[in-house]
Amino acid sequence: MRKRIVSAALALLLLTQAGCLRDSRPVEGTTFAMDTVMTLTLYGGWDRERTKEGRDWMMGRLVYFDQLLSAASETSDVARINRSNGQPVEVCELTARLLDQALALCELTGGALDITACPAVKAWGFTTGEHRIPSGEELAALAEKIDSSAVRLEGNMVTLPEGMEIDLGAVAKGYAGDQSRETAQSYGITSALIDLGQSTIVAVGGKPDGSPWRIGVVDPAQPEDYFAVVELEDMAMGTSGGYQRYFEADGVTYWHILDPETAAPARSGLSSVTVVAPSALTCDSLSTALFVMGLEEAAQFWREHPALEFEAIFVTEEGEIYRTAGLEGRFSLAEGYRDREVTVLE
Ligand code: ADP
Ligand code: MG
Repeated sequence: MRKRIVSAALALLLLTQAGCLRDSRPVEGTTFAMDTVMTLTLYGGWDRERTKEGRDWMMGRLVYFDQLLSAASETSDVARINRSNGQPVEVCELTARLLDQALALCELTGGALDITACPAVKAWGFTTGEHRIPSGEELAALAEKIDSSAVRLEGNMVTLPEGMEIDLGAVAKGYAGDQSRETAQSYGITSALIDLGQSTIVAVGGKPDGSPWRIGVVDPAQPEDYFAVVELEDMAMGTSGGYQRYFEADGVTYWHILDPETAAPARSGLSSVTVVAPSALTCDSLSTALFVMGLEEAAQFWREHPALEFEAIFVTEEGEIYRTAGLEGRFSLAEGYRDREVTVLE
């Protein structure tokens, strides 16, 4: 009898060690923040209750980031900066850290990314949905006021010149993604997919079975389809595209990604840019910036900034597909798209 108990205990120990008793069901969560539905799929640690605590904390934080960073919410740090009339404003540590990184990225991208594009975004009606086409004169005046280098950040104090406004719409989801990954890891979650709306996704580890996560890349010409699949493991991915938010007038499509130089929708010949990188902030910010730059300049930026550790996939308005060389082995065309040509950028 005693022998049997010992061998049963030994078998149990071996099973546990092999991971066989680990709960294979994901802990899931859905929340609405930053104007989009966010979905968490978490595979634990040993303790399912702890994974659930991690999920609840993450969901709470996502809503909190939104309250902190949304230009639309009256009480957010961003709204307080925007009403400051040139006076210094104290913001919380999280906002200051994001601003610091975002301002550095604005500079690094030569202004293709510019967090002070807000008045132009508003003028086109993208914040309210009441779309309009500003006159050439109005656009020139708006473009004149877009200049992230005029934002001062000292510690947690932000000073923004009068007449300017900031909008973190191009970077906030990426930042939230990186913060969520940190939370997941601190709760012992080794495998997770953090989907912050269709355009920003963070993979923690690989799938529970050890294989990489397989994430579809939206076809900008047919946004209900995926034209490619990217394999991700401890990696983030972000897509910016003209198809995500736009309006049409007199047969012309006007989208929500603006060229800070003209204050008008960026017409660079691209219809979508997907960035794959360890940091979700890099993915979110660069997908917007590279969209503004256009293929040639974006490819050059990729060659010149290996330290950012990013790879990219471009789709032109003609439907041509380009990808950077570093995606070898991680990129494949989806079913129905296998005959499409893909140009590899070196
Ligand atoms: P999404 O929000 O759909 O993921 P992006 O990350 O590309 O898309 O961000 C686009 C948002 O960023 C716009 O809705 C606008 O608020 C803002 N924006 C537009 N153009 C720029 C730009 N050149 N630089 C910084 N922010 C921008
Ligand atoms: Mg972005």
